[in-house]
Amino acid sequence: MTDGIPAAPGTEGWFREGPDGFALLASRCTACGALSFPPRTVPGCPDPGCESLDQSPYPLSTTGTLWSYTDARYAPPPPYPRPPDTEFSPYALAAVELAAERMIVLGQVAPDVPAEVLQVGMIMELTPGTLLSSAGVEERVWNWRPAGPSEDSYPDVAAYDAYTGEAHA
Ligand SMILES: [Zn+2]
Repeated sequence: MTDGIPAAPGTEGWFREGPDGFALLASRCTACGALSFPPRTVPGCPDPGCESLDQSPYPLSTTGTLWSYTDARYAPPPPYPRPPDTEFSPYALAAVELAAERMIVLGQVAPDVPAEVLQVGMIMELTPGTLLSSAGVEERVWNWRPAGPSEDSYPDVAAYDAYTGEAHA
């Protein structure tokens, strides 16, 4: 399952690949269960009322609901990594709410998904993604991808159907 693509610099340990599936890894306090994402790099619980120093990796839910999103239509200025002589491709950024953890996790939307199909409330799933460094080297990141219309029948499921080619009766 692991294809050997290294994690993007600065995100080592933020996700796992392999037989158990791709997942983001929070750190979880072994005493009170408080979660942190990105995982904490210093000992200690994020809850100031908890004195535990022990944290363990905790795989987060891989689906959530789209809480908000934005459309990046202009190339960020340097040091945004991008191989020279490549054209900038617009992309969307999603904020996805994980119900079980009561957390909102940001991430780039999969590059083949146009922002026009995104609807607040729709179901999103985590998927491996790649970035190209300034040197043209592939780096592993996570992406969010639409996985279904919202459970409360958000009025515009037509955009999602157009994206998937499905029709809901
Ligand atoms: Zn704690």
